[in-house]
Amino acid sequence: MSKRESSGYKGEALKALINAGCQVGDVIRVTRYEKTYTDKPSSRNYGGKPVKQPCEEKAYEGILIPRSETGDDKHIVVKLKSGYNVGIRVTPEVKIEKIGKGTKPAFASPPLPEQKPELPKVIILSTGGTIASRVDYRTGAVRSALSASDLYGVVPELSDIARVKTEIVFSIYSENLTQQHWKQLAKIVAEHIWQGTDGVVIAHGTDTMAYTAAALSFALQNLPVPVILVGAQRSSDRPSSDAATNLIAAVQAATRGPFADVGLAMHETLSDIAIAVSRGTKVRKCHTSRRDTFKPVNGRPIALVKNNEIIMLTDNYQKRDAARKLVLKPEFSEAVAIVKFHPGLNPAVIDWHVKRGCKGILLEGSGLGHVSKYCFDAIGNAIKRGVVVALASQCIWGRVNMNVYDTGRDLLALGVVPLEDMFPETALVKLMWVLGQTSNPKEAKKLLKTNIAGEFSPRTMAEEIGVEGESADGN
Ligand code: GLU
Repeated sequence: MSKRESSGYKGEALKALINAGCQVGDVIRVTRYEKTYTDKPSSRNYGGKPVKQPCEEKAYEGILIPRSETGDDKHIVVKLKSGYNVGIRVTPEVKIEKIGKGTKPAFASPPLPEQKPELPKVIILSTGGTIASRVDYRTGAVRSALSASDLYGVVPELSDIARVKTEIVFSIYSENLTQQHWKQLAKIVAEHIWQGTDGVVIAHGTDTMAYTAAALSFALQNLPVPVILVGAQRSSDRPSSDAATNLIAAVQAATRGPFADVGLAMHETLSDIAIAVSRGTKVRKCHTSRRDTFKPVNGRPIALVKNNEIIMLTDNYQKRDAARKLVLKPEFSEAVAIVKFHPGLNPAVIDWHVKRGCKGILLEGSGLGHVSKYCFDAIGNAIKRGVVVALASQCIWGRVNMNVYDTGRDLLALGVVPLEDMFPETALVKLMWVLGQTSNPKEAKKLLKTNIAGEFSPRTMAEEIGVEGESADGN
């Protein structure tokens, strides 16, 4: 077995597979022989000595599938006919046999449906993540499914909604995206808009999709058409997948939505009935696995896509207007850090960021906007050295008000910039974007306080934050 064919196997497991002449993809039988003992001497066990006996119920047949590179060197993984994977420990009592040769995995794309000239144009940009993945059940490998032809195979309904073009921009999990990827993506979106698309859809991993949504909201100003990010919590080959419903709704919103903002389209609730399109600067991943993981924060969704209808939930949006001239501002600073306040936070963390050349620090303060007084010296010193220090509340919902308690007032006096009702992730992305536009702290502070993409709402309404009555500060 070559290094490539070994697909994650190493050590004892790899040796056993080589000895058995097996490669990933082969159909194999693995029989575990157990040492059995008996008290009574018989003709078969030579007076109570341990003997190896085949245990039929411990024989497994299936396809040898790749192992995770971080897996140990003692197990092999077999995909059984039932579809389940079983990990089997390789010991001297385990016999591995090849019973069928593997064939290379193949996915035959269905023919492309005809483009209907009367339909609007949409570009679907794929960046990776679950929505762009399909598990090959023969080998267990995950592959990107969002080439143009694969896409139609997975969601053929799209050809009745729009003339679809697709482009694979990245094929990576969203936790691996950086400011450089946001910049590249913003430029590609802009090019498609300048070429006259009627809407843009970006298929994205859900983990950091809200960060990218915020980044694009700041980078793509004065949009003429909608830019909709979409993800899935379950890949498209699983019965419970939300990939198709989310993608269809995203294409509908991008091509027929009356708004021209950056939005994020995902399940509104656990049911498939409605997909919520939330503002790119006001949405957060709130659950590790539920399909309705994204929740609007301190605002309502812009729209719902329900029964093929787009239901607007607000009139606070920029109207679609093909004639509007997009303004592209794709620079983001990498010299920005987030410091979450917690009881016992060591202020040396702030000093360390300043020392290594940080130009902006986003403090995740407690409550209405507080950080313990034992951090004041470090914060004051950072500001004196030209670092922009801003603050958003770790409460997520609600608005900072740093005038209520003297801790807040002291921080304001040091020069900390309060970021209203922005939650920390959007605030962080905004700080990165602001310092990508200017290195002048005064100008940066001004930009930070300017509402660029609906990241501040004028007032946080009680019904939007899921509580009855008003908050302590009257907001
Ligand atoms: N962690 C990966 C990502 O964010 C996969 C999870 C997902 O797509 O939801 O890209």
